[in-house]
Amino acid sequence: MTGRVTLLGAGPGNPELLTLLGKRRLQEADVVLYDRLINPSLLAFMRADAERVDVGKLPRFHKVKQSVINQLLVDYARDGKQVVRLKAGDPYVFGRGGEEGQFLHQHRVKFEIVPGLTSAITGLAAVGIPITHRDYASSFHVITGHHQADGQQLDWPNIAHQEGTLVFLMGMAALEEICTQLVANGRTASTPVAIIQWATQWRQQMVTGTLANIAERATAKKIGAPALIVVGNVVTLTQALQPELSLQGTHVLLPYSASSRLFTKLQDRGATADFYERATSRPLAVTLPDWQSYQELLVLDSQAYDALLTAMVDQGQDQRQLARLSFTAANQAVAKRLRRRGIIVDAVQSTAATTGKTLTIGEANQGNTGENFLATYRAVVRSTAISWPLEQFQAIIFPSSASVHDFVATLTDTQRQQMLHCTVIAMGNQVARALRQAGITQPIVQAKTIDDVIDQLESRRVSHDKNSNLNS
Ligand code: SAH
Repeated sequence: MTGRVTLLGAGPGNPELLTLLGKRRLQEADVVLYDRLINPSLLAFMRADAERVDVGKLPRFHKVKQSVINQLLVDYARDGKQVVRLKAGDPYVFGRGGEEGQFLHQHRVKFEIVPGLTSAITGLAAVGIPITHRDYASSFHVITGHHQADGQQLDWPNIAHQEGTLVFLMGMAALEEICTQLVANGRTASTPVAIIQWATQWRQQMVTGTLANIAERATAKKIGAPALIVVGNVVTLTQALQPELSLQGTHVLLPYSASSRLFTKLQDRGATADFYERATSRPLAVTLPDWQSYQELLVLDSQAYDALLTAMVDQGQDQRQLARLSFTAANQAVAKRLRRRGIIVDAVQSTAATTGKTLTIGEANQGNTGENFLATYRAVVRSTAISWPLEQFQAIIFPSSASVHDFVATLTDTQRQQMLHCTVIAMGNQVARALRQAGITQPIVQAKTIDDVIDQLESRRVSHDKNSNLNS
């Protein structure tokens, strides 16, 4: 059976600007082929066993690369795989999606297109520029600035005379030429222009000016590709419509947990939260004890409890067998999670709370052995390395000791060096201790709650300056 290829639009960069269908296709994929402009956080939506292919790293020459990609798509699909070709923005907007579709069609491979938000529109909105406006522009034109390289010429007289907003993609190398041609063909030199680099991402930067001075200003502000060049009166609206968010420009790394409150709070304040991946837990086939011989159950983490319940139900038991036991949670976080599972614990402490006989449940590698310890699951560390240059981040956040273990599991020496530039935030004493034990020697900022984390970040915020970091 042949598989299917999905040409999938990732949107402009911010992972939450992926469509719902796009997210589902990533979750279903057997293999994902992605390129340079893709935010690696999106890959966290994939199954742990799915294959990732970074086609941005294949040979440099465009033609070779594209034909290799085309053939890979066909080969994977013929192997029966669900293939996702993940592309920046919308696949059919200057993304060579059309060419890939044609190739698949010729080779009779089933494919579909899942649209994405194109940077050509969304990137403008991110800085408060509506691409049309009743008072300023009644059409828009999305133009490639890359034409000359293909030997083709743009129809400058036609373009210059359009009343609507002009948006150039891939235009930074030709910026001066674009401005010169527009003026030479009739646009006034005072026409407003904006350049938006890395739109919707933490490193988003904008410079505004006119056709006469924008090239100079972009050079002075060191703004280059990938960027959008916007020409037209709508640009002036950025003054009124640019969103003001307290953490705009702040880039933080946290463990992957799509629904976490921490993630949403950061995101809502304009920070970009990217992910490192967590271990997955595999319940173990355990021999259940004689519950009558215990008085207390000490739960080291909530996953251990979930895995215990799985094992019990598999063996014909349920929670009622535990009714006699007193429950102790190793810390507040565990107590809270047990509460959600219908258990109000009797004590919160990391050692036994009663003088009676205690059964401790936890993860297999927690170092706890002995007859009164029951390992109910094993954490399987994801083998995928952290795909970020860590110096990009202002802060790395550790909500739990387990997240520390997952983080250091694939950490390279280079990354340890890179992270010296980041603020390390530990949520609680135990987490700080786990960081020390994992060999993280730099200063650790402690934050008890999610709001503390936000406060810490806001007080250290240094935005719009790529070279600065929160420690300085
Ligand atoms: N299919 C994509 C465009 C691919 S062409 C889309 O629909 O957005 C690549 C060009 O897109 C870049 O050179 C740049 O001009 C623009 N681009 C893509 N993402 C961008 C972003 N986040 N910020 C600014 N420009 C971006």
